[in-house]
Amino acid sequence: MKALLKTKREEGIWMGEVPMPEVGPNDVLIRVHKSAICGTDVHIYNWDEWAQKTIPVPMVVGHEYFGVIEKVGAEVEGYKPGDRVSGEGHITCGHCRNCRAGKRHLCRNTVGVGVNRTGSFAEYLSIPAFNVFKVPDNVPDDVASIFDPYGNAAHTALSFDMVGEDVLITGAGPIGIMAVAIAKHVGARNVVITDVNEYRLDLARKMGATVAVNPMKKNLTEVMKDLGMTEGFDVGLEMSGNRNAFESMLEAMHHGGRIALLGILPGDCAIDWSQVIFKGLILKGIYGREMFETWYKMAAMVQSGLDITPVITHHYGIDDFQKGFDAMRSGQSGKVILDWGV
Ligand code: NAD
Ligand code: ZN
Repeated sequence: MKALLKTKREEGIWMGEVPMPEVGPNDVLIRVHKSAICGTDVHIYNWDEWAQKTIPVPMVVGHEYFGVIEKVGAEVEGYKPGDRVSGEGHITCGHCRNCRAGKRHLCRNTVGVGVNRTGSFAEYLSIPAFNVFKVPDNVPDDVASIFDPYGNAAHTALSFDMVGEDVLITGAGPIGIMAVAIAKHVGARNVVITDVNEYRLDLARKMGATVAVNPMKKNLTEVMKDLGMTEGFDVGLEMSGNRNAFESMLEAMHHGGRIALLGILPGDCAIDWSQVIFKGLILKGIYGREMFETWYKMAAMVQSGLDITPVITHHYGIDDFQKGFDAMRSGQSGKVILDWGV
């Protein structure tokens, strides 16, 4: 079958032929219809320090997709050929304490599809049936293909009560932009988002941000003043991984504010702890999606009218994958979807 591979320990990604994946008794074989490109795939493409340490070569990469079940293993129940599906990319061990407590997103033995094991930029993908998510009929294929990052946004945004709250999101990448729409959908009052990229700030406005601001041009104190906010933000979602953004968030939080951290801050990122301690802030790290509570909420929010489609800015056929990666690498994009033509 055809697949996008990392075949060389250098910048780039290449189309090649690989054998069909094996389907174990508890696995499901999925015919991939749509692949979306993740920021992680761009790190793998760029072959940065993290990728060099993490990615085995050669390997099929990719983990965001929509497809249809082709075949199920002998022991699989609840799925059948023809089912429309996406899947959770974190494969968990099932026997550690957290897994057994139903907190699979906290499994210390997590293995990532397209990161630690063969991925979904391929005609077919085999994954454990446990990881499969059946897509409701009224959720479009394109939207289902970005359930993985939409799940990062949902897991982060739904960590804290937002009804009537003032929310600050730092980083208007695809995930931050989707978090804007979720925050508005669940009833936040003001949703302010920051980014240094004007293209992405425009997208955030299309997704319903109250204010989308470039911190190089206007600071958060001025934004709060314009909005008549005298006390600070109640909920913060850190989605940039940038230390300056996180610092300005800490300063802009109200006493008792709650912050969910998704962006991967530098390991040595120092912060002003007096902001956390004297304001009594609550900080929560976020990894992946809750299995499968986040997935149910994602489908339900789409069914109850949440529209995340403005985040999808580019579509290409799979043979034009290079154009897709170029668009992602330019920073002038939201989500990029590659179509397998089935
Ligand atoms: P992205 O890199 O596309 O978006 C990050 C955005 O932050 C960019 O648009 C960038 O311009 C912006 N930014 C840079 N400096 C800034 C500043 N000073 N102030 C405000 N914004 C600034 O990433 P994404 O795919 O949207 O993901 C968001 C973050 O979440 C990334 O750090 C990613 O690595 C991380 N992530 C974490 C998990 C997890 O499980 N914890 C999963 C997926 C992604
Ligand atoms: Zn486990």
